[in-house]
Amino acid sequence: MSGIRSTGFLHLGNYFGAIRNYVRMQDEYDCYFMVADLHTLTTHPDTTELKNNVHRVLAENIACGLNPEKVALYCQSHLHETAELYLYLNMLAYTGELEKTTTFKDKVRQHPDNVNAGLLTYPVLMAADILLQRATLVPVGKDQEQHLEMARNFAKRFNYRYGAGDDIFPEPQAFNFGEQLVKVPSLDGTGKMSKSENQNAAIFLSDSDDQIRNKVKKAKTDSGPTAPNTPMPDYIENIFQLLRLVSAPDVVEKYLADYQGASIRYGDLKKQLGEDMVNFIRPVRERAEAIQNDETYLRQIMEMGAEKARKNARSTMEKVRSAMGLSYY
Ligand code: AMP
Repeated sequence: MSGIRSTGFLHLGNYFGAIRNYVRMQDEYDCYFMVADLHTLTTHPDTTELKNNVHRVLAENIACGLNPEKVALYCQSHLHETAELYLYLNMLAYTGELEKTTTFKDKVRQHPDNVNAGLLTYPVLMAADILLQRATLVPVGKDQEQHLEMARNFAKRFNYRYGAGDDIFPEPQAFNFGEQLVKVPSLDGTGKMSKSENQNAAIFLSDSDDQIRNKVKKAKTDSGPTAPNTPMPDYIENIFQLLRLVSAPDVVEKYLADYQGASIRYGDLKKQLGEDMVNFIRPVRERAEAIQNDETYLRQIMEMGAEKARKNARSTMEKVRSAMGLSYY
């Protein structure tokens, strides 16, 4: 089970941190993927663009290879059970642990004029989404590790307090095909690629070929290593990290050898990265545009997905209410 907020176009961080794993999981697991439109409201209270954005996220997920016939692809707000579980879990979440969350502290810094209670309890809503499906594996990027640990704590607390020896909720684990959780860096050499920070330093799945080339061209570099085997600065390491994601292994090897031999030309490196990104993104962009324009199809997908996810949600909530002693007749 996993979700992506509908705050705008998806970028390479969303693809490599999340969607790529969704696509790989769909043949092996019973999967639930949702558009987190309620989480979006914590930072984007204006809903004018919401419908468009929800459609866009759905279209981009499908364009990346997610098959709505195989997985439940749904919209968070279509499952009213989420709000109920969120309420119960809020009673088990301590304000102290919520205030210490890294993402909360980041968001307070970014949106000082809108530090709402929803932002503080963001990890509780995320736990509700996951626990509602009684999910065991959660494909997410590295930035979500702490939230997932909190979801495990809420599950454990619930089981301990109300489970009477039974585990109502399994403990969800972060999941990534391959060794480690992925963090896709921003092109400006600072932090992770993100929808809300520097938009020119993020490559979106909707970017035109020229936008991609221009953004890559402006990525932070310097005049290059002056001696062989110079340690690599972070911002150059970031460029290589992006190259590893979209380019062929022999291309990566060549530029690494050039760097180590101090003969690298960053102009060539960026040109190669730009072209490989264009080739990677173009087909996704074109498919997503076609899907987004088909509102009837998107509606069918959302209804079908919500129906599948609701089945689990209902049975979970019956167990939850009964375990909590909230059934009086
Ligand atoms: P969000 O856009 O915050 O709703 O995130 C949706 C998914 O994309 C989550 O699983 C994140 O972990 C993942 N994600 C977002 N940005 C990055 C990034 N720069 N690198 C890796 N994963 C990311």
